[in-house]
Amino acid sequence: MSQSAFDNAMSQLDKAAKVMNLDKDIHEVLKQPDRVLTVAVPVKMDSGEVKVFTGFRSQFNNALGPYKGGIRYHHNVSLDEVKALSFWMMIKCATVNIPMGGGKGGIIVNPKELSVGELERMSRGFMAKIWRNVGSQIDVPAPDVYTTPQIMGWMRNEYEKLLGHADPGVITGKAIADGGSEGRETATAQGGVYVVKEIAKKLNLEPGKTTVAIQGMGNVGGFMAKILSKEGYKIVALSDSKGGVYNEEGLDINKAEEIKKAGGMLGCYCLGDVCKLEEMPSAGPCRHVSNEEILELPVDILVPSALENQITAENADRIKAKVVIEMANGPTTPEADEILHSKGVIVAPDVLCNAGGVTVSYYEWYQNVHNEKWSEAQVFGKLEPLMVQSFNEVWETKEKYNVPMRTAAFVKAIERVGARMLDVRF
Ligand code: NAD
Repeated sequence: MSQSAFDNAMSQLDKAAKVMNLDKDIHEVLKQPDRVLTVAVPVKMDSGEVKVFTGFRSQFNNALGPYKGGIRYHHNVSLDEVKALSFWMMIKCATVNIPMGGGKGGIIVNPKELSVGELERMSRGFMAKIWRNVGSQIDVPAPDVYTTPQIMGWMRNEYEKLLGHADPGVITGKAIADGGSEGRETATAQGGVYVVKEIAKKLNLEPGKTTVAIQGMGNVGGFMAKILSKEGYKIVALSDSKGGVYNEEGLDINKAEEIKKAGGMLGCYCLGDVCKLEEMPSAGPCRHVSNEEILELPVDILVPSALENQITAENADRIKAKVVIEMANGPTTPEADEILHSKGVIVAPDVLCNAGGVTVSYYEWYQNVHNEKWSEAQVFGKLEPLMVQSFNEVWETKEKYNVPMRTAAFVKAIERVGARMLDVRF
């Protein structure tokens, strides 16, 4: 039987604990969340009937600061998954050394089946059930799968009504007009690009000669393609849920963006019934690839930016990239990690690569709490040195213990969390 997400998280914890010879009391505390809330959210549907949705909030650890993590709306949400994701949020915040702990939440629902009114009532109802356990100094939620700035706005509004005064830092990922931060939209991709540039320096990869394949052209993958190509990297493959396109001479990213904006799909590369594949190449032949094939192309850098569990024990041996930049959360299974490590493939882990997103969420929280408003230049002026320093700390830890980058990031993060667990240390 395959391991659950939380079992995977605990195997990763045990691995790091062994490498760093972790204090056994700290290890014991990190084996379960501080608090888990399970709530029933009754919603009056448009039809007049009442439906009850189940929601969760897992607060894993707040040694470094208020719990922080998204709220996911998906029919596959489970307590096990939410607990695992809250553990990984703790690791992510600590890897980039921001003063936030780990949290995560979710509701078991297919939001596409709800009207806007039903969605609003469910979001407000969820907040009404958890509000005593969240707040800018307690637990700060954010968007995740199928939750949006609008939903964050409803939740903030509901929270402040119940609280009786304003507390805009209770939630991040808000629209700019509602107290959101400049730069949040591109923050995750931009943070990943800073990691790519640092790895390129370590491995002597020259941008113009370095080929990149990106699986998933959503918010993260789309901006990653755009920024990397501006930096001179050769993006040779790109995909969306229907598959992708590959041109070993490099793709025209503006063209791909145009197709996506016009409602086309890269998988068939069609707009309506007209296949535009021949328009895609900037040079050389362009061909379709499936989302499985895109992972196995002969490229220097592979950037999974879509779903979890894409690189598995089944295909890891066929990965040809020198470096995997994990922009999606959990794209590589633990078994695949071992195989890639034995092949000498460097896997830059999600907890580092996509931490630009939570870091700018922290900047949003900071601006709200201190009543400040930063420009985009100020945001990225802070993000770049933070990502560069975090990358170098993880790299040094990897060299020190001779372990993969993921274990190194966990070691670095757990060192920081453990050092602040005052109730265990005194
Ligand atoms: P998104 O919904 O904007 O984009 C997802 C992309 O994946 C879309 O292009 C979609 O077509 C594609 N896709 C869907 N199914 C696919 C499949 N089977 N194979 C290949 N591609 C497929 O989501 P996003 O915000 O870009 O997030 C992508 C990943 O990055 C997720 O794992 C998310 O958890 C992670 N992440 C996002 C952020 C953020 O700030 N948005 C922060 C941290 C981590």
